[in-house]
Formats: sequence, structure tokens, C-alpha cells
Amino acid sequence: MHLPLKAAHDDLPLLRTAIPGPRSLEMAARLRLVESPDTTFFSPDFPIFWGAARGANVEDVDGNRFIDLNGGFGVAAVGHSNPRVVETLRRQSERLIHGMGDVHPNELKLELADRLCALMPPAFKWKTIFGVTGSDSVEAALKTAALSSGKPGFISFAGGYHGVSLGVLPATRWPKFREGLEGLAPKCVTEFPFPAAREEGWPRAARCLEAIEQFLASDSDEATQTGAILIEPIQGRGGIVPSEPGFLDGLRELCDHHGRLLIFDEIYTGMGRTGTWLASEAEGVVPDLVTIGKALGGGMPISVCLGKREVIDVWGESKGEARHTSTFQGSPLACACAIEVLKIIEDEKLIARAKQTGDELLRLLRERIGSHPSIRDIRGRGMMIGVEIVNSRSGKPDGARCGSLVIETLREGIILLPSGVEGNILSLTPPLVLSAAQARRGVEVLARALERTAR
Ligand code: PMP
Repeated sequence: MHLPLKAAHDDLPLLRTAIPGPRSLEMAARLRLVESPDTTFFSPDFPIFWGAARGANVEDVDGNRFIDLNGGFGVAAVGHSNPRVVETLRRQSERLIHGMGDVHPNELKLELADRLCALMPPAFKWKTIFGVTGSDSVEAALKTAALSSGKPGFISFAGGYHGVSLGVLPATRWPKFREGLEGLAPKCVTEFPFPAAREEGWPRAARCLEAIEQFLASDSDEATQTGAILIEPIQGRGGIVPSEPGFLDGLRELCDHHGRLLIFDEIYTGMGRTGTWLASEAEGVVPDLVTIGKALGGGMPISVCLGKREVIDVWGESKGEARHTSTFQGSPLACACAIEVLKIIEDEKLIARAKQTGDELLRLLRERIGSHPSIRDIRGRGMMIGVEIVNSRSGKPDGARCGSLVIETLREGIILLPSGVEGNILSLTPPLVLSAAQARRGVEVLARALERTAR
């Protein structure tokens, strides 16, 4: 490992080998033999094997240094291996690594629950259900909504991504994740279009709300069995698509009017990424249940479903066997890290920084590549930005071109990922600690790659 452990990692790329380097290629050949073929995408140009990561920098096993504009799927909000998180891990691991989540609790779970509830809108009292993965917390929210409403069905939106565990598979509206598994996943979802805050041609919020209103007011079996609406305020994996302003508010009104629960999945958008603690906060809309994951543990796997107290209380008191739990629920190690992450976000004013650096990144991108014929849209909020790639002649989504941009930029030391059902959105969800110089370098490399791949 060449990267020292220091607070600010604002280094620019440093490339010592061709990308991927020889060690990455050799490990890829070996991994192919021992891992399910559907897990890792391999090509002669992809992937690199990560060896170490600090702040917004990643170092691969060949000693090449990258800028991580994807932020490890948005997890590394406080930076990879933030020194305060590393120190917390070290200290906590000497005291208590594992506890008995739902039997003899640990004090860190209590402290984290207190802190998270205090961050929620003060007009309501909140309660928590901890999980390990994002899917876990969405499952907790859906189960809670079903118990609370007495209706197991829910509404989800086209392009929405809520995980791929069996319980949330119906919620994730990408057909490819359900291929061959249709019979296995529960059928309890009704899909509606997601009104994006952008150009003409997309379903507008008013029209979507009207369709949902008609559905909820109907007496069809599907409607009467629908107890909740599940939505990402800004679709993440679906291509960084903010919902049209006013849509969330409209959903709130519909839920209140028809006695349904509103669930915001803020696993990607939460933890300050979009310039407010929750993305929904920017619109002043309060859900009944909200899920948070990814950045919460500073790299340790932990997620949470927060809900209004009276909603979560429908579970009733435990009679000795929790109905919703898991072995690692409220892991002391993960809770300690999450508490430290919340303190870091506050101490270093990272939410304000996400807005400031995000605005600057958006401005730079629009200025440098906004008029390129292959770019249809550059959008986002805070440190959650999507660059939409289309075929310059047909104007159609160009996933192949987006894929080659990911590879071209990787060759120059920038880590990016495609998103969107068509794979044609470059998603930028960097650590909130990204420096201005790193942001500039990222945009420069992307601009050059666009020129090269156009030829
Ligand atoms: N919800 C959203 C909005 C997500 O972005 C993700 C992960 N990309 C999930 C749920 C699922 O989280 P996990 O992969 O940790 O199960």
C-alpha cells in the first residue's frame, strides 16, 4: 500500500502501468475461475483490482492512483478510509466487535438511534429498524407499511432501484434483474412512470399524480391491496434523475388523502450527498418511512429504516422473538463508525461542501462539455450528477459509447460508472471531500475522452 493515511487526499492521478495493469489482469483471470460469472464484468480493459483507497483516491494493485468520481457507489461520502473512521474501528474492535443485536443490545446502537432520530424532522417522533444492506432496510420499510396498512401491495416507479434481494426485487423496476426469477419474486407492486425534472416528452408530474389518484380511488383488487408508495426522490442507479419539483409533495397529499404510507428510499441520496441531510428535505416533504444506507457506515455495511413512531409501533412489543431481525443487526463496529461519520459530516460541514463542490462540478461540466453533440443533459443536485450520453446523429441513448467513456477515463485515472436502464448515464457521486483540483481534472479527462471516442 503506497497511500499514506492522512486526512486530505486530494491527489491527482498517477499512472505507472497500462490500465488495467498486469497484476489486475492476472487476478481477473483467476477470479473468473472461482466467482459466479454474473458478478464481475470482465473485458481486456476492465476492471482494475483495488488495493487501497484514501479520501477521493483509489490505488490499484499495480500501484496506479485514481480519482474516484463514483465514490465507491456513493459509500465514501466522508472519503475512503477516513482517518477518524479508521481510528474508531481500531478502538471499537478492541472493545466489542459483535453483539447480540436483538437480545442484549449494545450502547452504540442506542447512541446511533438517538442521533439518527434527532436528525429527522422535529414535528414527529421517530424510531429505527437497523439493517446491514440497503435492500434490508427497504424490506423493513415495506414490511412495516404492510403491517401498518394491512395491505401488502405498493407502488413503485419505472427505473426505480431498491436492491435485488428477493423481498425488494419487485420494487426494482428493471426487467433484467427479474429475468428467469419471475415466479420467485412476490407480485405485489404496481408500476407508474417516474416524472423526471427535465425535458419535454417525459411524463409530467401532474399527469402521473392524476393516474395514481385514479388508481388509488378505484376498487380494483390491486388498488385495495396497495398500502404504500415507494420512491427515490432522485433516482440513483436509474440514471441520476431528480423527480419533478412538486411531485413528492403531490404523493404526500395522495397518501394522506387515501390513507397510504409514503416511503422515501434515500439510501443513495441521503447523508448530505445532495446538499441537504435528506434529498426530500429540499422540498420540505416528510415521509412516513425513510431508508438510509451506503454512506452511513463510512464503508462498514449498515443501513436503517426510520419511521414515524406510531408507524413503527405497529410491530408490537417483542415477545422474545423479533419478527424482523438478523444476526448482525446493530453491529457495534458498524454503529461506532456510523456515529463517527455523523460527527465528521457535522464537524467538517460536509453537507454545505457537497452543495458547493457539486454546484462547481455541475458548472464545470456544463461549461466544458454541455454543448457536445453526444451530451443530451447534465443534471443533478449536490454531489450526485448524471451526464446523459446519446448518439449524436439519432439522439438515442448510447450505452455503448457511455461504456467506452468509462474505459477511456479509467485509462487516464478517473473512476466513473454508467447508470440508467440503458446504461447511458455517466454517474458522478464522488466523496463529499473531493477537492476543486480533482473535480477539474475529472472534467478535463472526460472532455478529452469525449473527443477521442467521437473520432
Ligand atoms: N436503494 C437505493 C436507492 C440504492 O441505490 C441501492 C443500491 N444501489 C439500494 C437500495 C440497495 O442497496 P444494497 O445494494 O446495499 O442492498
